[in-house]
Amino acid sequence: MTKLSYTMQTGFFGELDPTALLKKYGSPLYVYNEAVFRERCREMQSLIKGSPYTANYSIKANSNLTLLKIAREEGMYADAMSPGEIIVLEKAGFLPEQIFFVPNNVDESEFRFALDRNILVSCDSLDQVELVGSIASGSSLAVRINPGVGAGHHEKVVTAGKKTKFGIGMDKIDELKSLLTRYDLHLVGINQHIGSLFMESDAYLAAAGHFLELAASFPELRLIDFGGGFGIPYHKLAGEGRLDLDKLGRELSAMVKAFASNHGGDILFKTEPGRYISAESGVLLGTVTALKENGGTDYVGTDIGFNVLARPTMYDSWHDLEVWRDGVPVEGELSQQTVVGNICESGDILARDRELPHVMRGDNIVVLDAGAYGFSMSSNYNNRLRPAEVLIDLNGNDRLIRRRDTYDDLFRQFDV
Ligand SMILES: *Cc1c(COP(=O)(O)O)cnc(C)c1O
Repeated sequence: MTKLSYTMQTGFFGELDPTALLKKYGSPLYVYNEAVFRERCREMQSLIKGSPYTANYSIKANSNLTLLKIAREEGMYADAMSPGEIIVLEKAGFLPEQIFFVPNNVDESEFRFALDRNILVSCDSLDQVELVGSIASGSSLAVRINPGVGAGHHEKVVTAGKKTKFGIGMDKIDELKSLLTRYDLHLVGINQHIGSLFMESDAYLAAAGHFLELAASFPELRLIDFGGGFGIPYHKLAGEGRLDLDKLGRELSAMVKAFASNHGGDILFKTEPGRYISAESGVLLGTVTALKENGGTDYVGTDIGFNVLARPTMYDSWHDLEVWRDGVPVEGELSQQTVVGNICESGDILARDRELPHVMRGDNIVVLDAGAYGFSMSSNYNNRLRPAEVLIDLNGNDRLIRRRDTYDDLFRQFDV
C-alpha cells in the first residue's frame, strides 16, 4: 500500500498534509516543493561539465514569478517564446543577456520588443530571418534548426522532423547563408528542440552530434543550444525509472569538449529544460465532490476540471493519483474508477479506469507531477476560477505564491 503514497514516502508535504492545505487555501490548489525545484535546477545546471554551459529554463512550463526567481538564484538562464514571457522574466530579475527569445511566427513588433532590449532573438524560418534583416540589418541573431528527425511522447509535442511547423530545414542552409550575407547578419547562435519527454537519451545525443557537425560550418557562433525535452517518470507509482542524466551528461560533455577543442572560440553551450525542472516539484490538490455509477463505470467527480489541468484532455497524459482523507493516504482494496472534473464537456477526464481505493465524497485527490504545463495551461473556461499556488519552502513552511482568481477577475476586462 505504501506505493500509493509517493508524497508520503518522499516527504513532499513535510509536516503539512493535503487536507490541511486545502482547508487553508481552498480547492483546487497547486502546491510546489522548493527543495525539489532547486534540486532539479542543480541537476540540469551540472549536466555538461568541462565547457562553458548553462541550462535555459523554459518558462512556458511554469511561469510563477517566485519559481522563476528561484531558477535565477540557481544560476539558470531562460528562454522566452513571447514578449509576455520576456516581461515576466525581467520582473524575476533575469538580465537581457540571460534571456533568449525563441519565438515562432511573430511580427516585426515582437522582434523589435526583444532587439530594443538587447535580447538575442532566434528566427524559426527564412522568412523570419528576412524580417529581422529588414528591420535590423547588421545585427546578430540565432536561428532554430529543424534537424529532420523528432522525438516525443505524443504527436503534439514532437517538434522536429518533416511533419512539424518548427525550424529551418537542413535543405535550406545554403539559402540561409545567402540571406545572412544579403542583410549583413551575424549568425551567433543556433538552437534546436526535437520534442518533449524523452526517457532514453539516444535520440537526443544523436541529434546533438548532428547539430555539432552543422555548427562547424558557422564561424561566428557563440551559442549552441541543444534544446529541451528531458522526460520525467509520470508512471512512478508503477516503478518507472528516471532518465539517466549521468550517462547523458557524460556523453554530452565529451561531445562538447571535442567540438570546442577542434573549433576553438568562446562558445556557450545550452540546454532548454522546462518540464524537467518544474514537473515533479508540483502537485495539484483537489476534492471529490460527487460519486456515481453510469453504464457500468464508477465515476469519481472532482473539482479538477481540464481548465485546471489540461494535459490529460489535450495529450491523453497520464498523471499518477493519490487519495487522501483527514490528513492521511487512503488504503484498502483497489477498484477501477474514472476520475472526472466539473467542466461541461465529455472529454473532461482526469484519469480513465484507474485503480484506486474506495473513495468517498470529501476525499482529497493528489495529482502528481503537475508542476509543468499545469497552471501555465490553465484557463477560466466555464468561468471557473484558476486555483492558487502555494510553495512549501526550505523550512517546511507554506506560503501563497499566487492568489486564487476572484469573481472580480472575471469582470476585469469589461467596461461595467
Ligand atoms: C517547450 C520547449 C522547451 C521545453 O520543453 P520541455 O519538454 O518542457 O523540456 C524547450 N525548448 C523549446 C524551443 C520549446 O518549445
